[in-house]
Amino acid sequence: MTNNKPERRLIWLQPAAAAKPLLGQPCNGCGVCCAAEPCPVARVFLWQLRGTCKALVWLADRQQYRCGLLLEPARYLRILPKFGQRPFRFLVARWIAAETACDSDAHAE
Ligand code: SF4
Ligand code: SF4
Repeated sequence: MTNNKPERRLIWLQPAAAAKPLLGQPCNGCGVCCAAEPCPVARVFLWQLRGTCKALVWLADRQQYRCGLLLEPARYLRILPKFGQRPFRFLVARWIAAETACDSDAHAE
């Protein structure tokens, strides 16, 4: 018999972070998705399989979360050569579909 109850996780976010929008609405940088679990990019490049992604960054001036692998990849990937940072950031932006629609069906309360 399968258990169809949704999985519940406790995550910590900045009090000033925006509420999570519905799936498909514009991403507002609420951080819920990356706080809940690492994305495939984090699994491959950060070797992180669970928990809040270590590359999740809070930008206090914008009151939004952003992907650290996109902002500052060399901080997380020390073997990444300087000339590789720009193309890597380009690829990460495509892989995570940065700043597009919310692709998380998580329900935050
Ligand atoms: S994709 Fe959704 S859950 Fe993730 S930061 Fe953007 S709005 Fe929040
Ligand atoms: S999008 Fe960036 S911050 Fe979010 S889980 Fe993936 S690597 Fe981590």
